Amino acid sequence: MTPEDGYDVVVVGGGPGGSTTGAFLAKAGWRVLLFEREAFPRFHVGESLLPATLPILERLGVLKTIAERGFQLKIGATFHDQESGFEHTFHFLRGKPWPSYAYQVPRAEFDAVLLEHAKKLGVDVRQPATVESVAFDAEGVTVTAASHGQRTETRARFLVDASGRAGLLAQRVGRRERVPNLGKVALFAHWRGAWRAPGLDEGNIRIFVFEHGWFWWIPLAGDRTSVGGVMHARTVQEWDGTPEALYDEMIRRCRRVAEQLRGAERVTSIHREANFSYRNEPVVGDRFLAVGDAIAFVDPIFSGGLHIAMQSGELAARAAASALADGRFEARRFRAYERRVWGGLHPFFKFIHKYYEPAFLELFLNPKSLLGMTDAVLSVLSGGAFLGMRWRTRASLALLFAIARVNVWVRRRSGRAVESRLEW
Ligand SMILES: Cc1cc2nc3c(=O)[nH]c(=O)nc-3n(C[C@H](O)[C@H](O)[C@H](O)COP(=O)(O)OP(=O)(O)OC[C@H]3O[C@@H](n4cnc5c(N)ncnc54)[C@H](O)[C@@H]3O)c2cc1C
Repeated sequence: MTPEDGYDVVVVGGGPGGSTTGAFLAKAGWRVLLFEREAFPRFHVGESLLPATLPILERLGVLKTIAERGFQLKIGATFHDQESGFEHTFHFLRGKPWPSYAYQVPRAEFDAVLLEHAKKLGVDVRQPATVESVAFDAEGVTVTAASHGQRTETRARFLVDASGRAGLLAQRVGRRERVPNLGKVALFAHWRGAWRAPGLDEGNIRIFVFEHGWFWWIPLAGDRTSVGGVMHARTVQEWDGTPEALYDEMIRRCRRVAEQLRGAERVTSIHREANFSYRNEPVVGDRFLAVGDAIAFVDPIFSGGLHIAMQSGELAARAAASALADGRFEARRFRAYERRVWGGLHPFFKFIHKYYEPAFLELFLNPKSLLGMTDAVLSVLSGGAFLGMRWRTRASLALLFAIARVNVWVRRRSGRAVESRLEW
């Protein structure tokens, strides 16, 4: 064992959450050591950014580098329901505190750019290096990590858990609570030669809802398209073939996806993620806090994961920097951070539960600009709701949810389906 000393903060995980937290802390002059267990570039799910993430990239000083990489531009999101035939494209609005576009990013490249930037700002990165254990005491934290068969012990004053779905602290000292009914399964791959929309809409994310779940369609630069099916647990349980055959069968059953993939070639293996909706505890404690997926993950339908990881990373860096400056690290001083993060996650949780209700989906796909409702929906879809909503936005969303409740009654009276697809 090689003992090392002298870091202010150890960050566990070099995904967008960890890179962002580490980079902001290093920028503020703190000594940061980051462990990432995988060698980059590495494949990762989650390729669609939201507009509200771009100002964070700017504050990090990496927006220009990202803009120059030639990632596919995204100016909106199209939703289509196979059962009703309804389709709607939401275009991000101008005149907001965030731009009217975002990017579609292969994560192998995006995550590597962010981690490289963190290094430039002074973060000491160990990679591949897996954190095996952490032990807190009155003066700090001892982190044991393994790399190439060698173990090292590091001391720091503070720990940031950015280990993503692995949820290091929840696994070791806390717990993970599954979000009921969101136990879906995703199967996804990259394709070449798939259909592209004409003009500026080429890069929009497309969501195709069908009886067995929904597909994401994310056009990437260089004629690649990420196509992922998120299946209801019921569909997966009833299937007794291979995951590859299930993916092909779901494409066949989702007619728009099948049409748009005609003549295209799958260029990666099929990846699988399951049971991805959970909340972890604890989020903060004496001398630590968690960011991004190490806190919670809701559902990929509104592409909020990267934004939540990076926005919580920025807020976490602020909370940690203030604790480091004061030399005080009790859990209670991080409660405001925790409240802010749950407050930011709330609109995503609420929207996702509603989204699986046919009565809400019908309104969502036929939006009325009445009383700012489209504007309010776009604010959530852009990621702008994370740091708090204006009262007008909150009121417009409350109105939308109230109309959706009336629509349940209307649909029931006319004999149309009202059962939430969440429980499927
Ligand atoms: C099916 C699906 C589709 C999705 N689609 C989207 C999308 O379109 N848009 C979007 O924004 N989000 C999407 N997401 C969510 C997105 O992938 C995550 O929210 C995002 O990656 C979270 O970033 P993070 O930094 O918190 O975690 P990660 O990106 O997972 O980073 C965590 C890092 O920690 C490392 N690590 C873990 N344990 C250790 C350890 N013990 N020691 C050292 N390193 C460790 C891991 O190797 C990893 O690199 C999707 C998620 C799913 C499941």
